[in-house]
Amino acid sequence: MPDDMVDAHIHGVTNALTAGWRVLERGGTALDAVEEAVVIMEDDETFDAGRGSFLNRDGKVQLDALIMDGATLRAGGVGCVERLRNPVRAARKILSESPHVYFVAEGAERFAAEHGIALCKNEDLVIPREVERLREYQADAAQHGNDLFAPSSDDVTISHDTVGAVALDRAGNIAAATSTGGTLNKAPGRLGDSSLIGCGCYANNESAAVSTTGWGEPIMKLVLAKWTADRIQAGNLPEWSAQEAMNYLKQRLNGHGGIIVLNPEGHIGIAHNTPRMAWAYKTVKKQEAGIERNAP
Ligand code: ASP
Repeated sequence: MPDDMVDAHIHGVTNALTAGWRVLERGGTALDAVEEAVVIMEDDETFDAGRGSFLNRDGKVQLDALIMDGATLRAGGVGCVERLRNPVRAARKILSESPHVYFVAEGAERFAAEHGIALCKNEDLVIPREVERLREYQADAAQHGNDLFAPSSDDVTISHDTVGAVALDRAGNIAAATSTGGTLNKAPGRLGDSSLIGCGCYANNESAAVSTTGWGEPIMKLVLAKWTADRIQAGNLPEWSAQEAMNYLKQRLNGHGGIIVLNPEGHIGIAHNTPRMAWAYKTVKKQEAGIERNAP
């Protein structure tokens, strides 16, 4: 995240925290809390989710999202949607109202529309900052002869602004949600890790709620969210497991990213092996937000 975007990121995650906490405070579920938190970040153009997301190679916004309930293991995911302002809302409808787990592209949009979610135009999701970012990226790649469609996954200078939330409610249930516009200049139809169960998002009351960000291909090859949850189920704390996940990502595939983790006992883990990642958390005793935690 560039220096001039730091405040906007901290502001954005703090707003999301407030929205999620409001749900929990009045006795709502962890599932509702993560949905509301992610909606706030999808609506915030600072992040790579919803309006303001990175553009794909064709200059379009193409979004992925997943939400998962740790109590029941119910999950809902959408991939490659182009006409939804809040993909996490559609994912939640899938979780709550469909026997299926996953819908992609036009079928996902049709499912959303049939369940009362208004569709928008793709242009409504595109902002000038991202048109310029894509133009610069493609011009640079053309000039330097880089592979235009496969930027290097170990380049930490390319920002990853996927959003995610994890929550624990009064009933002792945990949930997780992740939403993204994916990677800059991605090939149309490319699906990242964010909406794949166990990769960019996972929740199970027997282990942990996890959301990840970073270059999606290495994360999905390692099924990293589930890998982390398994460490916690084996008796390790979220803080250690989150850091281990980042070490594993780096050592095994030279991947970069970040992770947030919460177990049903209320222990949290936040780690990243990028220079920065915006995060915020709140418990009944404490609230904190920042951009550098467990940084190398
Ligand atoms: N993980 C996302 C993806 O690869 C990108 C990100 O986290 O910024 O689609």
